[in-house]
Amino acid sequence: MRKKIVAGNWKMNCVQEEGQKLTSEIVNMIRDEPSMDVTVVLNPPFVHLHGVNKLISGVKNIHLGGQNCSDKASGAFTGEISAEMLASFGAGYVIIGHSERREYFQETNALLTEKTKQALANKLVPIFCCGEPLEIREANTHESYVKNQLTESLFGFSEDEIKNIVIAYEPIWAIGTGKTASAEQAQEMHAAIRKHLASKYGESVANEISILYGGSCKPDNAKEIFSKPDVDGGLIGGASLKSRDFVDIVK
Ligand code: PGA
Repeated sequence: MRKKIVAGNWKMNCVQEEGQKLTSEIVNMIRDEPSMDVTVVLNPPFVHLHGVNKLISGVKNIHLGGQNCSDKASGAFTGEISAEMLASFGAGYVIIGHSERREYFQETNALLTEKTKQALANKLVPIFCCGEPLEIREANTHESYVKNQLTESLFGFSEDEIKNIVIAYEPIWAIGTGKTASAEQAQEMHAAIRKHLASKYGESVANEISILYGGSCKPDNAKEIFSKPDVDGGLIGGASLKSRDFVDIVK
């Protein structure tokens, strides 16, 4: 059985009190649902890691993640945060290659391989993001675009390594736009991603890899999207900043 995961990506939001309040509310609501078989991951900005980690301690299905990590292990890289530091602050996950990182910080497929290596070396589960911009979707070349992102960044990893990676498919035209992919569009791409992974690693490995959908996921569309066979959960941006909405998506 593949792991079902809902990860909240806070992006650059929440001052200290807001982050603490949001986390406490989520913890209280999820604590009431102990039998839930969903892995919840909170990915706050780095400065919140310590505080959020304290608040989630003892809640078994809530985990901590970073939004990014350095491609280097340590050293004179002012402003960077290493995968080892994230792990030492209690993180078990890290988002890698979010489209905002690719677009605004020029992160390339090759650089993302290095970041993924750092994450794996420090026992963090990379939530590796892929997804096409609108013009690629309109040109109907989205499948090959996304497959290429995965091939270039991930296909050098071994079978054991790839099994520890979570993929997040996030069509860029759906991120923060209120325009979500239809459940059919999500399923079609997720199935194509799984087939692509199978072409390299075999079907049984591909069937073990969780593939999350991201892009304007809300309580009212999550159920339909997550019901599709190749959709194993979601990476949630805007709606992860509202405790009720986030927990409703988890449920
Ligand atoms: P959104 O963001 O849910 O606000 O569209 C998703 C993401 O960027 O991870």
